[in-house]
Amino acid sequence: MAQTLVSTEPATGATIWSGEVGDAAAEVAAARAAWPAWAAHSVAYRIEALRRFANVVRAREKPFAELIARETGKPLWEARTEVGAVINKVEISIEAFSERTPQRKLEAALGNKVAVRHKPHGVLAVLGPYNFPAHLPNGHIVPALLAGNAVVFKPSEKTPATGAMLVQCFHEAGISEGVVRLLIGGPEEGRALAAEAGIDGLLFTGSARAGKALHRAFADMPHKILALELGGNNPLVAWDVKDVQAAAATIVQSAFLSAGQRCTAARRLIVQEGKDGKLIDAVTALVDRLIVDHPFADPQPFMGPVIDLAAADHLQEQWLGLMMKGGKPIRRLDRLVEGRPYLTPAIIDVTTVPDRPDEEMFGPVLQIVRVPDFDAAIDEANATRFGLAASLIGGSPGLYDRFWANIRAGVINWNKPTNGAPSNAPFGGVGLSGNHRPSAFYAADYCAYPVTSSEAETLRASIAQGLRDPNMIED
Ligand code: NAD
Repeated sequence: MAQTLVSTEPATGATIWSGEVGDAAAEVAAARAAWPAWAAHSVAYRIEALRRFANVVRAREKPFAELIARETGKPLWEARTEVGAVINKVEISIEAFSERTPQRKLEAALGNKVAVRHKPHGVLAVLGPYNFPAHLPNGHIVPALLAGNAVVFKPSEKTPATGAMLVQCFHEAGISEGVVRLLIGGPEEGRALAAEAGIDGLLFTGSARAGKALHRAFADMPHKILALELGGNNPLVAWDVKDVQAAAATIVQSAFLSAGQRCTAARRLIVQEGKDGKLIDAVTALVDRLIVDHPFADPQPFMGPVIDLAAADHLQEQWLGLMMKGGKPIRRLDRLVEGRPYLTPAIIDVTTVPDRPDEEMFGPVLQIVRVPDFDAAIDEANATRFGLAASLIGGSPGLYDRFWANIRAGVINWNKPTNGAPSNAPFGGVGLSGNHRPSAFYAADYCAYPVTSSEAETLRASIAQGLRDPNMIED
């Protein structure tokens, strides 16, 4: 008998959705059968279909945002911005498709022509995380479809209802059910999908732990594309800050938006020893004003609960680990409501903690590290296996040049939060944050492969060198 997956609302614990766990082999077979017809359509046809998809999402903006808010616990205002990003992805992907994978005609020697065109891989698996359960998988699915691939999408087991609604929108837009398949399930189904012989690649957004497991699973399949968008342990350096209030607002946004459940969230605030007092006070004062409440509360909260009780427990364990190693709490990580995963935004000074674990704390925890000079700030910022996002707050153009030149990350900002990356630019990280297959505007690159063709309408050929004189050949 098929297993059932149940999705519950973090804010209340109420069940909002249940569905049958799927079969990876069956979904891949359906996508394979539908793929050739989809790939044979013109690009103009696929563009039209995706524009219809954007219109379907636009028409459903309200229920879609409400579902995301309920299923993830994020505030409604934030869920609305996620639906907006789903819609905008279509036009961005159309532009990226033509800019990153255009048809090109090149001149070659002797008037010959060379053409560069791109082909879709075939069937692509997409595995999504829970924190942006529509926008992030959509960021793989739309470019994959545009390039002519069929897709099997497995949403996070924590947000299957949002995944199901996203897939429904593709189908409502007239994209056939075979071309976008929904696979319900958890890591087990993710592993089964990755192992399917019938997929030509896998596009993943999620944790470094799962990303490494997938990389191992693909080790003997170099012919398949594997795009990994993973986590971070992101630094934010605040230096010679003039506008303390603006700096505090930027730091709070970086660390606590989405209850810290963003891959680009600032985890470590690096400040200059002895000159950090006013800034830390301003950050703390602002943190004390943050509203933590359910997604539909009035006034709207800054942040809701984290995704589930297990995530809240894990964060509290990580927090205790820092405390036991000598971390000094400035604001504690507390549970707000018994039996629900609401956490208070927390700040801890870890300057004297030896061997700080280089782990992603995926929640509302900001660690503070005090350093003596800017070289030490850069060393501390780079003291991570990850390399996703980093920001410098304050400083001067010269200092930012030093920061930019020496920081190892795929997103490096100045006087801007670590999060909120623009969708019309490439997005990805180095180190444990990915495998050099950036997403967003560059997603087009991993959705198709280039084909180079030397072409002539008339066959003309002769061998100019290395032939014996025909008169010299003996019978
Ligand atoms: P996760 O890795 O636990 O799960 C992501 C998806 O992979 C889910 O669909 C899950 O079922 C599946 N999965 C888990 N283990 C698997 C395995 N061994 N094999 C195959 N599939 C597996 O991630 P999450 O907790 O849902 O999301 C949070 C993580 O995602 C954080 O680490 C965050 O930094 C990262 N993230 C990265 C980006 C980015 O663009 N770089 C964006 C958002 C989130």
